[in-house]
Amino acid sequence: MIHEVTARTLLSSAKQPDPWFGIKYTMNLYRGCQHQCIYCDSRSECYQIENFADVLVKVNAIDLLKQELPRKRVKGTIGTGSMSDPYLPLEAPRRLTAQRRRDPLLGARMEGRDPQRQLRRARSDGPHEGAGEVRPPAQGRGEACEERAHPLERLEALRRLAYPAPGRSLGQAPLALQSQTGFPENARFTYGRVVFVALHVIGSNNALEPWETPTAIASAAPRDGQLAAFRQREAANVAWLAAAFGQASASDAIAVVVLMQANPRFELPPGDRRRAGFEAVVDALGRLAGEFGRPVLLLHGDGHVYLVDRPLADGSPPVPNLRRVQAFGYPWTEWIRIEVDSASATVFDISIGVQRGAFAG
Ligand code: SF4
Repeated sequence: MIHEVTARTLLSSAKQPDPWFGIKYTMNLYRGCQHQCIYCDSRSECYQIENFADVLVKVNAIDLLKQELPRKRVKGTIGTGSMSDPYLPLEAPRRLTAQRRRDPLLGARMEGRDPQRQLRRARSDGPHEGAGEVRPPAQGRGEACEERAHPLERLEALRRLAYPAPGRSLGQAPLALQSQTGFPENARFTYGRVVFVALHVIGSNNALEPWETPTAIASAAPRDGQLAAFRQREAANVAWLAAAFGQASASDAIAVVVLMQANPRFELPPGDRRRAGFEAVVDALGRLAGEFGRPVLLLHGDGHVYLVDRPLADGSPPVPNLRRVQAFGYPWTEWIRIEVDSASATVFDISIGVQRGAFAG
């Protein structure tokens, strides 16, 4: 059901930006969502939305935004759609999100820029070049958030939705790639004599941490299910990594790039329970990179702090050809440029980019 409502206010603010996304203000042009995704956090009871399938359309949202925005004195990021999809199907006839984006003065205020400059930039921006995109799964909380559905059901739903076409990447110009049977998120492709391999290795100790207070499924069975799923995924990851290095060794590949979300905690000693979920992958990576002998680059997030090092250079045996880059995370949201130079011994040239249009305050 769709209901039109007249909202009293739109923008809500927090004293401090939230620690995950840096959002100071939030607004929802709609409340409730037509998509009804099985994994949706907004359906959780704690948000007290009685019927999430009933969508409320805040018909006066744009007027409210025009009144409220000029009164805000503190710059900050506005999060929209935290409790709904701002591009849900009924946006097509209602166009609240589109109006918010296309109003040049509103857009300028929301981006904290001079309106005329904003207009000039909008006019001069050409079409953006499309690109293929390979995205390994992120943080284990997707599996750990089970107020409405079993975590493994959510994971399967995510696989169907986020990796709908095994053998093809995401993005505007999808790349042809190889996907692992049963684990479509594990991908592999070669580009410019570099073999890329994406692995489903995630935070929370690679999803070995206990799932959170599952009142509906609090029994030994889900925990057993969790461990069994973890073991399957661990074996699949090791096999997929070995296949990538096998392909690289058998070809004229100059390097291998390994992509995953988790920081696998190289700094902890083997056997430490805090890295138990990473042991097998770290062992395999060290062994395979050592045998390969050519440059290997591990790219991951998770730690939020930019880091470039050679984590196994002093290992036994040492693996000096393995370099890793940990990407920035909130609140240090810069970007990283990595250039591939086949003539260079290290192959990868890594530098920090500068965020375009960052807020000054
Ligand atoms: S808010 Fe997002 S995750 Fe939730 S049902 Fe809508 S589209 Fe799905």
